[in-house]
Amino acid sequence: MKTRRFVDTVTVHVLAGKGGNGCVSFRRERHVPKGGPDGGDGGRGGNVTLRADRNIDSLLSLFYAPDQRAEDGGHGKGKRQHGRNGADLCVGTPCGTEVWDADSGELIHDLVEHGDELLVGQGGDGGKGNCHWLTSRHRAPMEHTDGTVCDVRDIKLVLKTVADVGFVGYPNAGKSSLLAAVSDAHPKIAAYPFTTLHPVVGTVRFEDYTSLRVVDVPGLIDGAHEGVGLGHAFLRHIERAATLVFVIDMAGVDGRCPADDYMSLRRELEQHKADMLSRPSLLLANKMDVETAEKNFAEFVRRTKKTPFRISVATGDGVEDLKNELRKVPLG
Ligand code: GDP
Ligand code: MG
Repeated sequence: MKTRRFVDTVTVHVLAGKGGNGCVSFRRERHVPKGGPDGGDGGRGGNVTLRADRNIDSLLSLFYAPDQRAEDGGHGKGKRQHGRNGADLCVGTPCGTEVWDADSGELIHDLVEHGDELLVGQGGDGGKGNCHWLTSRHRAPMEHTDGTVCDVRDIKLVLKTVADVGFVGYPNAGKSSLLAAVSDAHPKIAAYPFTTLHPVVGTVRFEDYTSLRVVDVPGLIDGAHEGVGLGHAFLRHIERAATLVFVIDMAGVDGRCPADDYMSLRRELEQHKADMLSRPSLLLANKMDVETAEKNFAEFVRRTKKTPFRISVATGDGVEDLKNELRKVPLG
């Protein structure tokens, strides 16, 4: 199967347009001797702007085209002709793209909403033609200025998905199945870990025409915040989610203890970013159709003092109720 690469960080080399040079020229026309200076000004160089676009979902296109250059301004010409201004370049990014200065490591801006714009490269100014130097005592000026150089810089773009709700869980807990059950997304589902290799966003629609966006990231495992497994690289995609949904495999299909899972998940989140645990959350016990789940459930409640919401994505039990719960959660 052909898989599309998912790119969520990329360094882009931005080159704004150079300003065009001013021109040195003299009017030459029949019956106009010593016509005087008529060199025109150079045009301005194009700007490079980033703009968040909801129709773009990854930084892939910039990964393949890391040089983004705006057009240079045209040089001035004789007969006081102004050089052409360089065309501006507008680069589309997904909503939720952070813009960092690649050299200083500083966060410059965060492009969150559709249409948010940021000027990242200011084009150079055009130079002046020799006609500006004409005075009564300086009739044949040879002076002119060149266009100014433009901004050249490296910026690092980091995508942090914008969603209202983030699913958190171990691999195989049933996150993708749940996403498919409640939203319009069609994630890949299979009984092996790391079926999901990149964040998938789905929209949950309610009868009253309201909706919310849910993001499913590859499963977290112990040490994810340090870069173990795939979870780490994707933790940032749930950073913006106002509500977290913990999906626990209550059947313990992979031989782990569900209560341990829950505690490790919380630990990983906390170590990634301290405020993540203070967000509103829902706790789900999935796979309640499996025989061993009831026993694990009792043990889970005893150990964590929490009563998860019971669902089985496989049989559909509890999924509609869960949707109603989701409707009430605080959004960003
Ligand atoms: P993810 O890694 O958390 O995204 O998990 P997936 O959604 O890919 O599911 C992993 C496996 O668990 C798949 O084989 C699913 O069919 C299975 N699964 C998901 N939900 C349930 C459930 O409620 N009951 C049972 N028995 N299996 C489930
Ligand atoms: Mg998955």
